[in-house]
Amino acid sequence: MMTQITKRNANKFLKDEYDDLVKNHLEWNIRILESGSKPHSIVNGKEVIMMCSNNYLNLSNHPRLIKGAIEAAKKYGAGSGSVRGIAGTLKIHTEVEKRLAKFKRTESSLIYQTGFAANSGLIPQLVGEGDIVISDELNHGSIIDGVRLTKADRAIFKHRDMGDLERVLKDSDKKYRRILIITDGVFSMDGDIAPMDKIVKLANEFGAMTYVDDAHGEGVIGEDGRGIGAHFHIEGKIDVEMGTFSKAFGVVGGLIAGSQDLVNFAYNKSRTWLLSGSHPPAVSGAQLAAIDVLETEPEHVKRLWDNTKYFKKELNSLGFNTGASETPITPVIVGDPGKAKELSNRLYDEGVFALPIVFPMVARDKARIRTMMNAGLTPKDLDFALDKFEKLGKQLSII
Ligand SMILES: *Cc1c(COP(=O)(O)O)cnc(C)c1O
Repeated sequence: MMTQITKRNANKFLKDEYDDLVKNHLEWNIRILESGSKPHSIVNGKEVIMMCSNNYLNLSNHPRLIKGAIEAAKKYGAGSGSVRGIAGTLKIHTEVEKRLAKFKRTESSLIYQTGFAANSGLIPQLVGEGDIVISDELNHGSIIDGVRLTKADRAIFKHRDMGDLERVLKDSDKKYRRILIITDGVFSMDGDIAPMDKIVKLANEFGAMTYVDDAHGEGVIGEDGRGIGAHFHIEGKIDVEMGTFSKAFGVVGGLIAGSQDLVNFAYNKSRTWLLSGSHPPAVSGAQLAAIDVLETEPEHVKRLWDNTKYFKKELNSLGFNTGASETPITPVIVGDPGKAKELSNRLYDEGVFALPIVFPMVARDKARIRTMMNAGLTPKDLDFALDKFEKLGKQLSII
């Protein structure tokens, strides 16, 4: 007879592993907003200037989005009742998809529950055994998870390095059935932009499919915030433009835009789409209003960029290193992770909310404060923030 000397403790690892994170200062301390996400937010009971939300255009507080959400809830109720494929496709879901395709200047579009659900649901359907997926080395975690779900081989090219991408393509050309090139559009840690025009050109030479995750580009780059296709004037030439309503659009929801063939394939095959409930009507109402606002009120994108240019220029002239950023994501590179955390804490104490990004999200010696610009911040707010960055940067010998 087998005897168990010490009985297995099923749940002990939960506390052990959490304690380990705390010991290494790697745990997430959740901060509570009591105000909604606004340019001036109440965070953990204190008013601060918001410099780390993804609400670039401040649309989450726009009266037209709030009205759109309320009216859709009144008309269609609080929930959708089902998954899209069975009884959960409301007319308002299809209205968003039509309006979005028009906005993105593509033949068609499809809404997923989140951007994460789009990447993890669609990527594993596009490639399988006998195929290869080629990724930029700095791609977002949701792409990485999507790729992990495929049975395809994987290769990585050096960040934004077209010579290296060409090398991988040449190497893969004869060996595989399908080749999928996948990249972030705007990279979320450095704020630089993938050279999508060149990627599309290379892909065409090799008959490869292109997939761009434009989560930080939509509402931000390209004419009226139409995203990376518009930015490079290659609309309709990227096979899959994936994005999200959770950032500049100020709501929530994943999306893909491309051909009708892509959309028909995607909704029939993506398990995240088929097996998970569809958006509450209020979400769709706010999404429709967000597209409306982008099409009719160009001032938000303009203000975002005016703010971005001013803030970046002033940070640089103070002597801060803002890396390769070309977008409203402006990293303030500090180097040492302890120093980055200290700077973030002191900024909060002084009324500026911006969080540190440290290893493993960025290299060990590239710890930083990642600032994200907001169109709702005034020149006075920016000067206030710059003043604090200058004072604390000097205190901590960063500048
Ligand atoms: C935020 C983000 C996502 C996930 O989008 P959600 O709609 O919030 O799930 C995907 N990719 C990138 C690059 C992102 O920054």
